[in-house]
Amino acid sequence: MEELQSALKEWDLIVSTLPEKGRCLLTTRDFYPGEVIISQEPYVCVPNKSSGDRRCDGCFTSSNLRKCSACHVVWYCGSTCQKLDWKLHRLECQALSRLDMDKRKSVTPSIRLMVKLYLRRKLESEKVIPTTATNNYNLVEALVAHMSDIDEKQLVLYAQMANLVNLILQWPEINMKQIAENFSKFACNAHTICDGELRPLGTGLYPVISIVNHSCLPNSVLVFEGRLAVVRAVQHIPQGAELSPVAWTRAHTNVLISYIETAGSTMTRQKALTEQYLFTCTCPRCIKAGQSDDIQESALLEGYRCKDDQCNGFLLRSSDGEGFICQHCGVVRDKEEIRKIASEVKSMLDTVLMSSSAGNHQETFWMYQKIETLQRKLSHPFSISLMQTREKLLKILMEQQEWREALAYCRLTIPVYQSTSYFYLDMPGETYLSSTGVYPGFHPLLGLQYYTCGKLEWFLGNTDSAIESLTRAVDILKITHGTNTPFIKDLLLKLEEARAEASYKLSSKDE
Ligand SMILES: [Zn+2]
Ligand SMILES: [Zn+2]
Ligand SMILES: [Zn+2]
Ligand SMILES: [Zn+2]
Repeated sequence: MEELQSALKEWDLIVSTLPEKGRCLLTTRDFYPGEVIISQEPYVCVPNKSSGDRRCDGCFTSSNLRKCSACHVVWYCGSTCQKLDWKLHRLECQALSRLDMDKRKSVTPSIRLMVKLYLRRKLESEKVIPTTATNNYNLVEALVAHMSDIDEKQLVLYAQMANLVNLILQWPEINMKQIAENFSKFACNAHTICDGELRPLGTGLYPVISIVNHSCLPNSVLVFEGRLAVVRAVQHIPQGAELSPVAWTRAHTNVLISYIETAGSTMTRQKALTEQYLFTCTCPRCIKAGQSDDIQESALLEGYRCKDDQCNGFLLRSSDGEGFICQHCGVVRDKEEIRKIASEVKSMLDTVLMSSSAGNHQETFWMYQKIETLQRKLSHPFSISLMQTREKLLKILMEQQEWREALAYCRLTIPVYQSTSYFYLDMPGETYLSSTGVYPGFHPLLGLQYYTCGKLEWFLGNTDSAIESLTRAVDILKITHGTNTPFIKDLLLKLEEARAEASYKLSSKDE
């Protein structure tokens, strides 16, 4: 622990234990939007596994892959990644090679992550892999497991998974109960490693990043550069060194990221947090549950639209329970009418999943279009489910290179991302929010959506709009992703190209 504290001192951070919150990471100086607060290599990590989506075990790339010739399970992009991973994979390779081929193929990423955890611990104790102050098994041991909150079914599953790990490792002295407990630790502590566009690539255990607490109103964001986890400030986080522990939390010197999608009603967020992370959030947004602005937020994100097409008011259930009243114009929507559309949407969503997993692309597209039409009638224009349907349509259209239609859907999703950012600004009494200025939207998803928009406008030759969208993307993503990653460099290059084209167009017009 002392070792960790002195390592964190270099980052201007300390670990503290706060009542009811447990361990958390606090700042000892001011951090400003875009600054890296801390970064960490994984203790162990594995790429995702799905048919057709193979990745290098070292760098997670999906190109130029070759299979490890001994175990036939692990893939590498070349000798550099293979050599870097060899100390650990040598043991894993031997263990996997003992299994018959069918069993070997059924080894899931979570099982591999656990096998790697035990192998790394062994190699650490044998001094083959050096420990560091921020990456060692003791820090993994200190992570919360919430064993007492796990239901029976989950415990049985963990026990079965522990059996498989045991079968692979075949260590006589292994502690089965401890493996099961470590699976529980993975469930609440492991991070999904994503690429710059937030697409999941794999899973990793980052013991120091795991100390960072959650808030539905985060002041920081976690992104990945390759497999390096990077936490960046998206708000001004004041230093809290001279404050008492209680004042620390109040002064928001606690580094906070969001473990879940923040665009959701309080009820939805709380459900996700208790189910996966087994705690109840008490962030400034969550403690407002049931208050008028929280009710309004839920009604926008998950409620119904006004009967009047022109009205953007939000609806609340009438006192007699027979309908929903628009809070703007007072028009009532009948409960039965809503129920009918809602159940139609639900059954269509069930069938579209089957159609999409069966690979019927055209049918999937038509069904999502129908769902979108129904949801437009049913849900508020800022509804999350409507936005998710549009995201699906956008993705399919991008794959089919239907740029014009894709752009239309992309533009429709932006106001929703913006609105969820504006909620943060609208919340009265949160003085620390004002430090972000007029534009609060440092939500990486909003930045990415502007990026997609800009790329589409560029393809379609709409240079001026492309410049506008790409500029907005840069404004957000340089804060959340930094300016030095290949991803942002690529974005900056596109913006430059667009600007060059615009000035060329202008000069040729002058002639
Ligand atoms: Zn690689
Ligand atoms: Zn191998
Ligand atoms: Zn919360
Ligand atoms: Zn209305």
